[in-house]
Amino acid sequence: MSHLTEQFLKYQKLIQSQHASLLPVSKTKPAEAILELYQLGNKTFAENYVQELVSKQAQLPKDIEWHFIGHLQSNKVKYLAPFVACIQSVDSLKLLREINKEAKKNRRVINCLLQLYVAKEESKFGFSEAEANSVFSSEVLDNLSNIMLIGVMGMASFTENKSQIRKEFRLLKSFYDDIKNRIDHPNVKFNTLSMGMSGDFEIALQEGSTLIRIGSAIFGTRN
Ligand SMILES: *Cc1c(COP(=O)(O)O)cnc(C)c1O
Repeated sequence: MSHLTEQFLKYQKLIQSQHASLLPVSKTKPAEAILELYQLGNKTFAENYVQELVSKQAQLPKDIEWHFIGHLQSNKVKYLAPFVACIQSVDSLKLLREINKEAKKNRRVINCLLQLYVAKEESKFGFSEAEANSVFSSEVLDNLSNIMLIGVMGMASFTENKSQIRKEFRLLKSFYDDIKNRIDHPNVKFNTLSMGMSGDFEIALQEGSTLIRIGSAIFGTRN
């Protein structure tokens, strides 16, 4: 068994035992590595860069469900709209409207997660809680019939301080639960709380994550 296969199976087992799913993050890694996990039965992968994703999608099996998790500029949405399964990194209303427009052109409904900004770092993208809340009004949602809002994605601060990380994951979870319980709209079907990466997935699982995005722990460190 290759090291990649071994790592993948180890993390998959661990994460599934906590009733969550593993989403392998294959950015910067070659198509062969993706194919190896595909052949083990894994059909979902996440990528961060538009060009890289478009080129991998063209070479790899067409039943792979691609999640986009990187910062997305509105003018690049058109390259992903024909095939992307889920855009997790929706960080503005402008971007959400553009996704809706391009999804419509492709006669598709695209699943989206709102990226919430909970970390302390300045550099991370995402909605504040108040901004995200304002998306869930009928004036906004009624005009977005080609997107489906299926949940929330977030990244905790890059820190050794576990209680800080836990606090941030709790914020994500409470926002997620509030929308899930409160909003009744045909374009909203909350079922995905995407939080936790290689360094903090154990805390994320304890705090109710349903989808863990793991890159380096499976594929090895990136350059
Ligand atoms: C790169 C990336 C990951 C995976 O990070 P690792 O630490 O390598 O597991 C998860 N989520 C997002 C948004 C990323 O950009």
